[in-house]
Amino acid sequence: MEFILTILGSGGAQPAQEKHPSAQILQVNNRFFLIDVGEGTQIQLLRYGFSHQKIDHIFISHLHGDHYLGLMGLLFSMHLSRRQADLHLYSPPGLDEIILLQLKHARSSLSYRICFHPVKAEENEVLFEDEEIRIESFPLDHRIPCSGFLFAEKNRQYRIIKEKLPTNILLQHIALLKQGKNVVDEQGRILFEASEYTRPPHHARSYAYCSDTAYNPKICSIIRHADLCYHEATFMESDIQKATETYHSTAKQAGRIAKEAAVKRLLIGHISARYKKPDELLIEAKSEFEFTELALEGNSFHVSRSS
Ligand SMILES: [Zn+2]
Ligand SMILES: [Zn+2]
Repeated sequence: MEFILTILGSGGAQPAQEKHPSAQILQVNNRFFLIDVGEGTQIQLLRYGFSHQKIDHIFISHLHGDHYLGLMGLLFSMHLSRRQADLHLYSPPGLDEIILLQLKHARSSLSYRICFHPVKAEENEVLFEDEEIRIESFPLDHRIPCSGFLFAEKNRQYRIIKEKLPTNILLQHIALLKQGKNVVDEQGRILFEASEYTRPPHHARSYAYCSDTAYNPKICSIIRHADLCYHEATFMESDIQKATETYHSTAKQAGRIAKEAAVKRLLIGHISARYKKPDELLIEAKSEFEFTELALEGNSFHVSRSS
């Protein structure tokens, strides 16, 4: 069962050669969640072997162009491929108007339905939930409403040790064991002890996406212990004033958030085009949090169940 993040783009707001603006795709088992859709995302999807047909949920952190200007092209491509399935779009309010305006002037309608879910940037809310995963948004501190997203696998069932089970065991007893409960008879005597017939559940994996934001330690309680955390690092600490003015973070601050939230791995990106040596930002983030990597385009990060 996969839990893989692939970076499609991680550049800053200014265009730069060979660097695409923010876009990522998270594969959880057979589902693909697209996170931010900077310009050129659909080309990047093709380049790294992802089919847009498999994407049913798109999350937009905020309405600065470097995080969503690739969306319209992608929506039209889905239409040209005669998509039928509903597409769920999570974004601060306003993106629905932008899409409708473009469709109006193109005198077009799409072959599929867009289910628009406005995200309240000032709140922490659950956006999507099923039996396997829960996705929630949390407030970031940026010039315009901006949300981060936490993708968390749900606690899984205890794993039955099949070779130990008697062949005549009842299904309802197996169901109890899967919940980690002992099976008892009417007198309360233990028939099957959970610890004997099961192994603990697999580790529930999580990924935190912290898009454009000033240093904001309030997020630490929400992203705590995430297996993987992306945090923007637009500036170096020597330019902290610029970071503060523009509601962005320095690499050092990104590292500090990772340390305070006790995440397992940190990825940094959205590095300003002014820095020609991203390794310098990596070194700076690592001075706070050792397990930091650059979120380089085309790189995939696997989170294993035993993390
Ligand atoms: Zn940005
Ligand atoms: Zn921004």
